Amino acid sequence: MTALPLRPELQGRSPYGAPQVPARYRLNTNENPHPLPDELLADLGAALGAAAVELNRYPDRDAVALRTDLAAYLSRSGTAVTAAQVWAANGSNEILQQLSQAFVGAGRTALGFTPSYSMHPLITAATGGTFVDGHRRADFTIDVEAAVAQVRDVRPDLVFVTSPNNPTGTAVALETVTALHDAVDGVVVVDEAYAEFARPGTPSALTLLEGRPRLVVSRTMSKAFGMAGLRLGYLAADPAVVDALQLVRLPYHLSSLTQAAARTALAHTDALLATVDAVKHERDRIVAALPGLGLTSVPSDANFVLFGGFADAPAVWQALLDRGVLVRDVGLPGWLRVTAGTPEETDAFLTALGEVVAPAH
Ligand code: PMP
Repeated sequence: MTALPLRPELQGRSPYGAPQVPARYRLNTNENPHPLPDELLADLGAALGAAAVELNRYPDRDAVALRTDLAAYLSRSGTAVTAAQVWAANGSNEILQQLSQAFVGAGRTALGFTPSYSMHPLITAATGGTFVDGHRRADFTIDVEAAVAQVRDVRPDLVFVTSPNNPTGTAVALETVTALHDAVDGVVVVDEAYAEFARPGTPSALTLLEGRPRLVVSRTMSKAFGMAGLRLGYLAADPAVVDALQLVRLPYHLSSLTQAAARTALAHTDALLATVDAVKHERDRIVAALPGLGLTSVPSDANFVLFGGFADAPAVWQALLDRGVLVRDVGLPGWLRVTAGTPEETDAFLTALGEVVAPAH
């Protein structure tokens, strides 16, 4: 690549790279391992077959029916959301990219509280903007006063708040979101990819949308819905945000197959989300078992756990992989991240981890 006239801000960067290496237990990308319900699979076959008949035509550019279904799903939370407030794209990655294209871009700045989702800086740079690291406390929580002082100083055009945060699992208090919103003129994007896994008492920023036209809540069907392969992300915000994104979205960005599959999945919301409680139970089981192995973890509201206390985390990552368990080395010294899934996966992970940290003599 070095011989290519690459844009300077992309030179020397690494692409997003969760290793896709073969392993018996793949606990590295926060997927939902539960199989999709048979009734959904049957309905998907029928819906995709029907949509295929129309593949000579472009899809609904505005995805109105899908946005209506997504609004109905979000409204189940108790906060009424309309289709005009919802926008959908190919994964929340594309949602975040469109937001960055519209509200950051060349000569402008985004700020996110690191460590957080690695795509936030990459999307910012790829869309021409500058990313500034926001500070967290050593326990990975956000100190609201320090954060407000920092955004007043940096004056970012967009602030990323990931709640629950990846890779730490940390939920962000709504007071922190409102304080950040009130301290900036830019857009505040609350990335709630893992919202459905939050523990009771951790409300969504959806409840804050009313009266805050610069606030955006980003969601995905990749995690709780167990539909990572579908590539369907969405946002809720003021309708003016949705209008602004029309300027940057590619025409017909969401294929008719994607729209049909997503609507079919949403019609099976209850069956799909039935696994969420089971996954949360496995997460809590992992957290509870770690002290017995002499390890710590960060309190998690997501479907994964950041665990650590390692002198050499990469060596532990490799030793787990040698035992068929693939976790994620997110580059935080001393820490690794494991996805919570089925009871069998938890057992395999804890057994392997026990062997690695307390080898039999
Ligand atoms: N936001 C966060 C915080 C994530 O962890 C991820 C996926 N790992 C995404 C967004 C993107 O997910 P998707 O594009 O599959 O919706």
